Amino acid sequence: MIIFKSINKLNKEVNFKAPIGFIPTMGSLHKGHISLIKSSKKKCPKTLVSIFINPSQFNKKSDYKNYPKNLKKDILILKKLNVDYVLLPKLNEIYKSKKDKKINFKKKDKIMCAQFRPGHFEGVLAVINQFLKNIKVSYLFLGEKDYQQFFLIKKFIKNKFNIKIFLCKTIRDNNKVALSSRNILLGKKDLYKSSFIAKLLLKLKKYPKNIFTLKNEIRKIKVKINNLKNVKIEYLEIRNKNNLSKRYTLKNFKIFLAYYIKNVRLIDNY
Ligand code: AMP
Repeated sequence: MIIFKSINKLNKEVNFKAPIGFIPTMGSLHKGHISLIKSSKKKCPKTLVSIFINPSQFNKKSDYKNYPKNLKKDILILKKLNVDYVLLPKLNEIYKSKKDKKINFKKKDKIMCAQFRPGHFEGVLAVINQFLKNIKVSYLFLGEKDYQQFFLIKKFIKNKFNIKIFLCKTIRDNNKVALSSRNILLGKKDLYKSSFIAKLLLKLKKYPKNIFTLKNEIRKIKVKINNLKNVKIEYLEIRNKNNLSKRYTLKNFKIFLAYYIKNVRLIDNY
């Protein structure tokens, strides 16, 4: 495993003739990240993992400051997985000027997380743009856990980069909670609530008889979740998974949820 602290050095030393699978992360690696890495190792001759906590995608300073960091453990995990290349870029190499820090997108896509976290996806697209512009990777591995992020990245790179995206299934713990670096910030009781919420929605996704019962069940679930102490829903919506519009059928619907437990913000989708 070779660790690069700059993109420049990586570009000088890596032979790009063998297609590279790329997994951008913000570190504090867990089994969700590991499943992306394993998929890349299966499909691509070489695998590159980046760890970069991207300040430009945080819309609250405190959230950026409190984001979990665990570099030593991350490196051990990556070594064990036998990853080919690891990139730990510096902030000033990613963003050379202020205009690089945000990439705008259409107003009609400013829904759900894009609506509640203004500037967030503009920062995500900006960092992805810098990576893809400067490193010639062939495949990008993204998690379904962040489905809206996948949707916007896919749209953004479509006519801009010749890169194929692989979407990898959400990995959950034994209690159905979607793994997230932020789960470290939750106490035992909070995790229990998160598991209760995940199970409610998973059950709903399995057996909707028709759109009417689906909408009705969603309404009931909203009340149940909001009745939990210290829990607050930011949004719970049903959308068409192909275009994220509200015109959906039983065949193409997806449920999207963002909520807070105390001050920890969690997202999920089914
Ligand atoms: P992050 O480090 O949170 O920026 O995530 C890096 C990548 O890992 C993104 O493509 C995420 O969607 C993906 N990811 C995070 N959590 C999970 C999970 N539980 N299952 C699958 N992929 C995940």
